[in-house]
Amino acid sequence: MTLLATVAGEEVDPLELKILLITQGIQTPSSDVYEQLGRTWRLSPNPLECSCLLLPGNIVVHLAVVGAVSPFSLGIGENGRPFLAHRGEVVTEVSFPPKTEFYEQRTSSGRPFRGMGVLQGVDVLSFPYLWPCEYASAGLACQFCHTGGYSQQLAKEGSPEPTAPSAHDVAEAVRYAVITEKVTQHIQVTGGATITPQAECRRVVEILDTIGEVAGFDKIPGEISVFTSPPAEPSLIDEVFAAGADRVACDIEIWNDELAARICPGKSRFAGRERHLRTLLHIAEKFGPNKACSAFVVGLEPPESFLAGAEFLARRGVVPVVSVWMPHGRPVLGRTVAPGLDFYRRVRDRIAELYEQYGIIPPGGAGFNVCICRDIWNQQIRTRANCCQRSCTAKRDAVETRTASAP
Ligand code: SF4
Repeated sequence: MTLLATVAGEEVDPLELKILLITQGIQTPSSDVYEQLGRTWRLSPNPLECSCLLLPGNIVVHLAVVGAVSPFSLGIGENGRPFLAHRGEVVTEVSFPPKTEFYEQRTSSGRPFRGMGVLQGVDVLSFPYLWPCEYASAGLACQFCHTGGYSQQLAKEGSPEPTAPSAHDVAEAVRYAVITEKVTQHIQVTGGATITPQAECRRVVEILDTIGEVAGFDKIPGEISVFTSPPAEPSLIDEVFAAGADRVACDIEIWNDELAARICPGKSRFAGRERHLRTLLHIAEKFGPNKACSAFVVGLEPPESFLAGAEFLARRGVVPVVSVWMPHGRPVLGRTVAPGLDFYRRVRDRIAELYEQYGIIPPGGAGFNVCICRDIWNQQIRTRANCCQRSCTAKRDAVETRTASAP
């Protein structure tokens, strides 16, 4: 990857800069910056819109606004172009995805898209929290999880959760994003974890069925990924694939069991690593490699621990998804500072080896706000692997599977 710049005396490439921005955040941009850049680009002070930057090489990175504690800031040069600075020194020019009307829309039931769906980077529409997490409501949220922390706080106060969007609300937002405004290729569907043995399978199936009816699977250019907690009976996941999912993720988050029990108390108590593994391995065996995924929050356990889990999964055709821990605002085990670049360089290099060795293709296209797996694959493997042919084949197979299973 091309050398980019020097930050605090250290040479960094765009992916390393992404990691620094996720882990250290950025100062709150001035209202002028928001106003000027927001005229032509997708940039908003509203946290529900999860704004992102595009670094050189079109690396997508979440704009984690943390105020004055960050050394990074955003400015506008004399040429009118936005730049990123570190302690006042310009690091690089940056850009943003094009301006969108997505967040101004409402569904036919009157529900705003803002707060239900989030555009990530240039080609992803995510529904990050379609219903509350029951682990969090039981007081057992994962320590790093902001939405889970919100549900936990509401439960503690005895306040009700906002009403959940309907399947039709979700499908209308998908239709708008892929057909009306064409601002996305890939869809991610995620709700909070549920304690029932069926997990979220039935809810997800209803959403996928409705997306098929309202938007049409053949209109979605990329993949549909479903993030769910693992059901007690792994074969229940088959219904999620039959309803149109291209991939299903059951996120283990932390590989080390002892740390996982402390950081993710609800997940460990109600599901646990073994149940996650049963479902992930069932998917890999029944549907093939790259159909099952597991996200890890990387930066909370020693690299050798995470990498052992990543290799265990990759060897079996399960995609380890690398989500960089954002320490802002939610201490984990009392920590509020992420590891340095050496930690993440080691992770990046080993993950690239694992992806190549085991033929792992992480989800997405241009990349996600806080995950670096697709960036690693795009930068280090895609260019060497004739990936266009592989991706097109995967997409064609996915569309054919969905068409064949449609009623
Ligand atoms: S189980 Fe999922 S939604 Fe619930 S607190 Fe943990 S990460 Fe958040």
